[in-house]
Amino acid sequence: MNGIAWIVLAALLIDFGLNWVADHLNLKAQPGKPPEAFRAFFKNGDYERSQAYLRVNTRFGRLAEAIQLAAILVFWFGRGFPVLDAWVRSFQWGPIFSGLVFIGLLAALRLTLSLPFSIYSTFVIEARFGFNRTTWRTFIVDRIKGAVLGVLLGAPLLAGILFFFQAAGPLAWLYSWGAVTAYMLVMQYIAPTLIMPLFNRFEPLKDTELEADIRRYAQSINFPLQNVFVMDGSKRSGKGNAFFTGFGRHKRIVLFDTLVRHHDRSELVAILAHEMGHYKKHHVLMGLAMGIGQTGVMFYLLSLCIGYPALFEAFFMPHPSVYAGLTLFGLLYAPVDFFTGILAMMISRRNEYAADRYAAATSGSGQALAEALQKLSVHHLSNLSPHPFYVFLNYSHPPVLKRIAALQRQTESPEGARPS
Ligand SMILES: [Zn+2]
Repeated sequence: MNGIAWIVLAALLIDFGLNWVADHLNLKAQPGKPPEAFRAFFKNGDYERSQAYLRVNTRFGRLAEAIQLAAILVFWFGRGFPVLDAWVRSFQWGPIFSGLVFIGLLAALRLTLSLPFSIYSTFVIEARFGFNRTTWRTFIVDRIKGAVLGVLLGAPLLAGILFFFQAAGPLAWLYSWGAVTAYMLVMQYIAPTLIMPLFNRFEPLKDTELEADIRRYAQSINFPLQNVFVMDGSKRSGKGNAFFTGFGRHKRIVLFDTLVRHHDRSELVAILAHEMGHYKKHHVLMGLAMGIGQTGVMFYLLSLCIGYPALFEAFFMPHPSVYAGLTLFGLLYAPVDFFTGILAMMISRRNEYAADRYAAATSGSGQALAEALQKLSVHHLSNLSPHPFYVFLNYSHPPVLKRIAALQRQTESPEGARPS
């Protein structure tokens, strides 16, 4: 084993260990009874159900992570990479098509390995706690559509990157970065209009009073609102959500049908005010810019590592190639990804507070949003008392109690909380 092999192995084990510790602390942090702010929201046994949901998901998550880690180690030290490479090379397809097949087969292997876990999670755990609405038919059709889209959209981009690193010399990373950036921007437009409708039905909001309330609020903050859609989220899960997609003319706000069913009008407007707050505070653009920046750093580091013989030796590969370098670099890059991921989540949690503040300040009070958050977390059996270390590693949103406390502080002293 060389230095690179030790780095990758250490990163895999440390990542696994940190998650294990965080899970442990998270379970230990549970107080045994619902927090004060939530007492009134829990009906008989619901709090106990939320605790059971947390335990079952934690145990299952740990098992899934352990098996995933074992699978990587077995594939690596069982000489999986050179065996697969030798087989692909035997067809003599040339470097780009060979690369597509090599990476495609690894992706298919990974997907196959994760399949039993998504089946168990959907049809056993989610079903047991009353959330699952996915039929087998939907589950299978989703997987097929996902795979076809992955090949149609992913293969040309991957072929481009392989070509650049094969033929474009020292600036390959810059061309690849440009290609991926263009791809990300195009996806912003085609995801809401062409891709998401392949998986869900989007219908204009039928509740005219609700729509009038939403439009009145949007107008009050000068938000150019064209479309409010209701999505059949109930096709897959009883959990509700709302989101915002697209730029310019293609901006749309989407409410899950499950959300509309469980919340009253003022709560729904408050939830959308939060979503519009993300837009007004430029969080959507910020996220996109960060993603583009991160991609640039990654391609630059890739260009430094891809010709390095020790990278191939670490995985027992006798023939260096661009496609194998790309794959192996992915494993070496994991620690960088880990830290940028934590940083991105810190920024995201900060943005959530900012969107909450914006919603409360522009709608006069944080009351409706706080109530919506309370109902959502009770209905979703969310963990109300996560351990701070678990939050640090995993949460893109602040714990709900902290969000509610911040909203209450703002409602009590609105002076310091004007939208800026
Ligand atoms: Zn948000």
